[in-house]
Amino acid sequence: MRLDKFVAQAAQITRSEARKGIRAGAVTVEGTVCTRAETDVAETAAVTWEGRPLAYAGRYVYLMLDKPKGVVSASEDGRDVTVVDLVRDAYPRRQLFPAGRLDKTSTGFVLLTDDGAFAHDILAPRRHVPKTYQVELDTPLTAEMVEGFANGVTLADGQTMLPAQVLPGENGPCSAVVVLHQGVYHQIKRMFGVYGAGVRELRRVAIGQLWLDERLGPGGWRELTAEEVEKIT
Ligand code: URA
Repeated sequence: MRLDKFVAQAAQITRSEARKGIRAGAVTVEGTVCTRAETDVAETAAVTWEGRPLAYAGRYVYLMLDKPKGVVSASEDGRDVTVVDLVRDAYPRRQLFPAGRLDKTSTGFVLLTDDGAFAHDILAPRRHVPKTYQVELDTPLTAEMVEGFANGVTLADGQTMLPAQVLPGENGPCSAVVVLHQGVYHQIKRMFGVYGAGVRELRRVAIGQLWLDERLGPGGWRELTAEEVEKIT
């Protein structure tokens, strides 16, 4: 695995903190200082962090889930079924949680993990990991919306969003594909709301460069491969 991943997991720090330390010379591999975060190391490698030997913490779980409508993006909820409820039987001893939220009415890609440092890393606002959504509107997509999103929409409460990309979708004039680089509560609905457009359907189809496996179907899930986890960051 990559050295920055090894260090982040074993030292319980974020990937970016690990990269910074590696660049600064805080890490040795088999007794030699290694300043390249992408160096491939075995799980059994002798790695030190600031002079302290690190033991690889063991395998974390990373799941891709296709969230159905009506299920909430939480670990537990007194009333509604949660995304974690959908996988709990398979991982009874894991403290899984969703890395990022989708509205109860939205569908699509939710990443479930028990790797807190990884989740923190991909959700950190400064990382801007892109998320791609398919959107069905109640009115046709306009050039004004596309341009407004590209320049950074100012929401009704005065917050200005980071520039977002919008492309025509595949289901006719009311269909769009939106790429966001931040996660603000109800962001897409509020951004289209500025133009008087309502969102009928919202589906997350990608996190970073990793696309939802459409063979899963609503409520379906599977573990990610190591290569797939790399594609997210
Ligand atoms: N934007 C929204 O409005 N809802 C979501 O679930 C995700 C992005």
